[in-house]
Amino acid sequence: MFTYPPVPKTAISALKGCTHAVVIGHVAPDGDCIHSELAMAWLLEHLGKEVFVANAGPFDRPEISYWQAFFKDTIPQSVLDEKPLVVVTDCSSRDRIGEALATQIEGLEVLVIDHHSAGASFGTIRYIVPQSYSTTLVIQHIFHTLGVEINEQVAQHLFFGFATDTGFFRFIGPHRGETLRMAAELVDAGVSPNDVYDDMTGGRSFDSIKYLARLIDRTEPMFDGKIMVSHETEEDVKEFDSAERPSDALYSALLSVKGVQAVVFFKLPAPGKVEIGFRGSHDSSVDVGGIAAALGGGGHKKAAGATVEGSYESIRKQVIDAIKKQLE
Ligand code: 5GP
Ligand code: MN
Repeated sequence: MFTYPPVPKTAISALKGCTHAVVIGHVAPDGDCIHSELAMAWLLEHLGKEVFVANAGPFDRPEISYWQAFFKDTIPQSVLDEKPLVVVTDCSSRDRIGEALATQIEGLEVLVIDHHSAGASFGTIRYIVPQSYSTTLVIQHIFHTLGVEINEQVAQHLFFGFATDTGFFRFIGPHRGETLRMAAELVDAGVSPNDVYDDMTGGRSFDSIKYLARLIDRTEPMFDGKIMVSHETEEDVKEFDSAERPSDALYSALLSVKGVQAVVFFKLPAPGKVEIGFRGSHDSSVDVGGIAAALGGGGHKKAAGATVEGSYESIRKQVIDAIKKQLE
């Protein structure tokens, strides 16, 4: 059985002691990041603080686009003048919050709340629980520690992050009943898992499903089918909206193929840049987080990513070589 490590006393005093707070997450946020920020903002407001929420974006995942209006990509000087406590969620390295925000918060007290183990040391106070399936679960533990009741609004945020990072319960392993008990608490507070699933996966355009078909059709099995590699082309970028990139559906379809240990998806976020998404199968020995970290990215053993400058051909070769080494 797993129990959450105690919240550091320094983190509790920072949360209770500040008068102003800024909550930040990582670039290209996902459901865990955004809902961690929103739950922390709610908690800090509940504790009587003036709170400002920021995220560098882009908000290009359809399931979180609704929340974009609540976030700013820079912090006003008037807020910085108050010497706020900076709370960084779902991210534990400086480069992941975006250069502009990273520069703005220099010199301020930074509390990092996360479940990623990779990343250069960052923040003055860190509460990082790599065993936690989501950052929202870490935050749920902070609510418990502070004795703050989780109302339905907070429960909706916490459940969305949990559902995002557990692939809607699929990635939870044995002896982790605490995670299901924490999810049950949120359902008892009023969350409908049925509605959250629809919000996470629905509302897509027919085009995005056709794009998925194209990416699957283009997939190359490598190393005796252990690795599946797909990529988008410049034509795809022109034809399809990147906000509708069906990455998660691509990963789960390809990971369901017998013998597949990892899936690699090369994306073209901007000219001269290649973004690589990785997923490992649950029983695979391939550590995709390690490969991503070596490329300057990060993530977890089974889900990771990196953005690298250079040509698609050279980066692809670098990635395939790194995977080959791991398979040897
Ligand atoms: P996704 O493929 O859903 O964007 O990311 C999967 C996991 O890898 C997430 O935990 C995400 O935070 C992490 N990740 C993706 N891209 C990067 C990156 O460029 N740098 C770091 N440090 N982590 C990344
Ligand atoms: Mn996360």
